Amino acid sequence: MTEGTNTGYLGRFAPSPTGLLHQGSLLAAVGSFLDAAQAHGQWLLRIEDLDAARCRDEFTQNILTTLAAYGLASILPVQYQSARSALYERALETLAASGRTFHCGCTRRELSAVRLAEDDGEACCLNDCRTRRVDPANSALRVDLTGLSPVETQDRSLGSIRFEPHIHRDVVVRRRDGVIAYHLAVVVDDADAGITDVVRGADLWQATAWQLGLQQALGLATPRYLHLPVVTEPDGQKLAKARRSIAIETGDSELMSTLRNVLALLRQDAAPEAARTPKEILEFAAAKWNTGRFRGLHSVMAD
Ligand code: GLU
Repeated sequence: MTEGTNTGYLGRFAPSPTGLLHQGSLLAAVGSFLDAAQAHGQWLLRIEDLDAARCRDEFTQNILTTLAAYGLASILPVQYQSARSALYERALETLAASGRTFHCGCTRRELSAVRLAEDDGEACCLNDCRTRRVDPANSALRVDLTGLSPVETQDRSLGSIRFEPHIHRDVVVRRRDGVIAYHLAVVVDDADAGITDVVRGADLWQATAWQLGLQQALGLATPRYLHLPVVTEPDGQKLAKARRSIAIETGDSELMSTLRNVLALLRQDAAPEAARTPKEILEFAAAKWNTGRFRGLHSVMAD
């Protein structure tokens, strides 16, 4: 990544260390890196390790080593969400002061039935918990978004993303188990770092609407978004276990072919055979980076 230049672009890759990097997460890392590199911007790594029950230090270490082996390096210090609780607590206080937070006692089973049916990874409160008595010790904390204004933003690949207060009515900001919810942490961190461009997998495309709502509730700026295609199996199914980890100890030629493969999945020009290191491939790819090649694609099939 460029050193010493500051074009105002700040991108990021924000993996959750709940497993090893896989083809899909490597694609997100490469895409966000190249987008920043082409803009002569900076690129930040943020480890999203708030869920202590699912995250492990060895995965964090493995992810960082793997990224470095692929030449995906940053001069900025790595951020760890687990070290940033004070920031999230302050955001919760801001939301509480606005009178929008409420305890929600809907059960996981009730909510996952809705999530499955609607397939957008989120479910609003189902039982009007705002008006009923809910045990605060055994409930999630939500923020009511119904009083906000609609927001529309244009994703650079997938087009319009809309936050509609009557559809995206509320969102969990602290989970029932006390863990700060992903949506809150992500909007707070992106704004705090001054992220200008969120480049990530299209699995988060629909969930972005709630992030637009939360940004408004907290008075935070909305960055630009670019959602990259997710990688599926050739039959369109979710990525299989076998592709769910990226090896780093297999030597350079394996690294190079994995990287070339990721660029091919993103429909980018093939790097010349003469490129001898991942860094050389990334330099070539950054110069040629063309988001138009995958515009509108929600998924690409691995071969
Ligand atoms: N930590 C999230 C994940 O690994 C990504 C968050 C984001 O890019 O906004 O899926």
